[in-house]
Amino acid sequence: MSRRQFLAMSAATVGALAVGAIPFTHNSGAKPVRAQNSHTPPTKFDREVFTLCEQCVWRCGLRAKVVNGKVYKLDGNPNHPHSNGMLCPRGQAGIAALYDPDRLQFPMIRGGDRGSGMWKRVTWTEALDYVAGKLQAIKQQYGPEAMVFSSTHNLSQVQFENLLRAYGSPNYGTQRSLCFNAMIVANLLTFGMQEPGRDYSAAQYIIYSGRNLAEAISNSETQDLIAAIDRGVRVVLLDPRFTKTASKATEWLPIRPGADLAFYLAMLHVLITENLYAKEFVAKLTAGFDEVSKAVKPYTPEWAASKTEIPAATIRRIAREFAVAAPHAFIHPGWRTSNFVNSFQTERAMAIINAISGNWGEPGGFFAGAGEEGGGLGAIPQPPYPRASALRLDGVPWKYPLVPLEIGVYQEMRDAILAEKPYPARGWFVHRQNPIASLPERRKTLQAFSKLDFIVTVDTTMNDTAWFSDVVLPEATYLERYDPLAVVGDGVFIRQPVVPALGESKSALWIFKELGTRLGLQDYFQYKDEEDYIRQQLKPLGISLEELKAKGHYRPPSHEAATEEFKFNTPSGKIELYSASLAKNNFAPVPVWQEPPAPPADQFYLLTGKVAQHTQFGTQNNKLLSELFPENVVWIHTKPAAERGIKDGDWVYVESTAGKIRIKANVTEAIRPDCTYMTPGFGHLSKGNRVSYGKGASDSDIHLTFTDPASGGQALSQTFVKVYKA
Ligand code: SF4
Repeated sequence: MSRRQFLAMSAATVGALAVGAIPFTHNSGAKPVRAQNSHTPPTKFDREVFTLCEQCVWRCGLRAKVVNGKVYKLDGNPNHPHSNGMLCPRGQAGIAALYDPDRLQFPMIRGGDRGSGMWKRVTWTEALDYVAGKLQAIKQQYGPEAMVFSSTHNLSQVQFENLLRAYGSPNYGTQRSLCFNAMIVANLLTFGMQEPGRDYSAAQYIIYSGRNLAEAISNSETQDLIAAIDRGVRVVLLDPRFTKTASKATEWLPIRPGADLAFYLAMLHVLITENLYAKEFVAKLTAGFDEVSKAVKPYTPEWAASKTEIPAATIRRIAREFAVAAPHAFIHPGWRTSNFVNSFQTERAMAIINAISGNWGEPGGFFAGAGEEGGGLGAIPQPPYPRASALRLDGVPWKYPLVPLEIGVYQEMRDAILAEKPYPARGWFVHRQNPIASLPERRKTLQAFSKLDFIVTVDTTMNDTAWFSDVVLPEATYLERYDPLAVVGDGVFIRQPVVPALGESKSALWIFKELGTRLGLQDYFQYKDEEDYIRQQLKPLGISLEELKAKGHYRPPSHEAATEEFKFNTPSGKIELYSASLAKNNFAPVPVWQEPPAPPADQFYLLTGKVAQHTQFGTQNNKLLSELFPENVVWIHTKPAAERGIKDGDWVYVESTAGKIRIKANVTEAIRPDCTYMTPGFGHLSKGNRVSYGKGASDSDIHLTFTDPASGGQALSQTFVKVYKA
């Protein structure tokens, strides 16, 4: 596939590829892209800088072209495995994030009530002294655990974690429980790793459960899928909604929400009862096959048909086709599959099918993904952390024993702040994250904020959380700063400033060192500046910072391949089909059916999912992306819409027991009649973001909080809504 084809697919023009069996109506929220761009780009530029995109967590390599001191164009770096020379539309629109007139450029302290928008511009010295003073006061009066910290997955997260651990707080939240805890915990228990890699190059058969790679773009993996489709791979997609990925799949199965577990239990039943599994592999490298075999006996395709609303013959056929293609076949582990509390067992069932198909280490199957840690980089010296003895507010591990500490249960932390149990929190330090927008039940998050004495946010934009903070510290954008180095596969990649930071914005490395020093924690920040930090990282590799900056990446000479046999990092050293850890903690050790809740007759499931033009809650103020997708809408099937007198484009109310939103309707046949769907990330409260303010509605206003006790994942699709004309 050419670069041109990929861009055509990944931009809003993906709609053009979506011409499938089901007609789309025009009002999907996206705007048509101008057919011709009258602007003629210059053929020459003054310089080109290799760096890394941060418009989403995929962190693609990019080449930034500079003309007259300004970033003029962003292109993919062909040497980076995540971009392969291409950027998605969000990546290309990074220039609008850099030059966004609304972005934070100066430190500010609140001058009126929280959320009033009254700010006082202060110097960095005033702001840092103020924040450090507040952190010290909370620690002295209530203990370090009274301060909670949260950040998102990013390269400088390591120094944020360094700050909070040196400070002594056990309370750290990431957004992962809102995304993929079910997948991570299931894979850890089964394979001993968070997420196995997938080899698309030789795959003959792929099954996805709701994963929508054509819109929820993970650049290189989306490219891999499209190349595999071009090659003729068979793709089966289970999704109640006809997504762009559905339009490219061989087979789309509009499954009943929450019933994916039944589909996979029935697949297991067929594979085992018909002897369609890799016997030698199972005997050698897995543990607990007999227990699984016994457990799935009752789950016939006929049984699953009533749960999934997919014919038994189809389920049986797919199981057999998968077995024929195996080991060059896989069920994708998904990402945001924590949508029902049974999603954890769904992930376990998917992992077990992959395991017994014998696809491990085979072309077109699963493999141990290359980690992003280490890479032979030098470590910055630091003393050990103080012991944090208080219970964690998010219940890990005392309430959620299987959830890794570094992952946590974010929604539980918010609820603990609200309930003041097991103890009251006093402050929240947020780094590049937006809990007000991302957590379900926004009303509760605002209430939790009102319980706190102090809130500080470090970010590039005045998002909703910054808007309700006491202090905002402006971070430079990814095109203006250094971050710790990134390791991808066998390569080391650098994020470096393309242009000087606007206003007084600073790198996270600088901000956390300054704060640490003021808190008396300078021994945890033993670097002079950002360049010194990276030079220390590079020391063992024998490459200079200047060389790395010029090329953007470094690949150490290859070492001899390890001859040691690969061992799964599980208690048995094998793939654990039966999990003793689950049994010990009173969870089903092999997957069993858990009936998901269903909406009452007059209500709908509320589904959410990404679009190609936006990343969660962070890009709606981006002028270029807003042009492509200015606001979200709610999808409703033509039949229930007609019953309610709702026409395409009408304003409607969508109401759950958590709240009510007003939003435009997209009346379509591309969704099951019992479901509604909306893109998250809109309905911002911050008037500091003038492009996104007042556009669309927030799903967080109506989503309810349900947590899976095994993985700690938030079950988003268990929210049921009424829809009626506004
Ligand atoms: S997938 Fe897109 S937004 Fe994400 S890092 Fe790559 S180019 Fe940037």
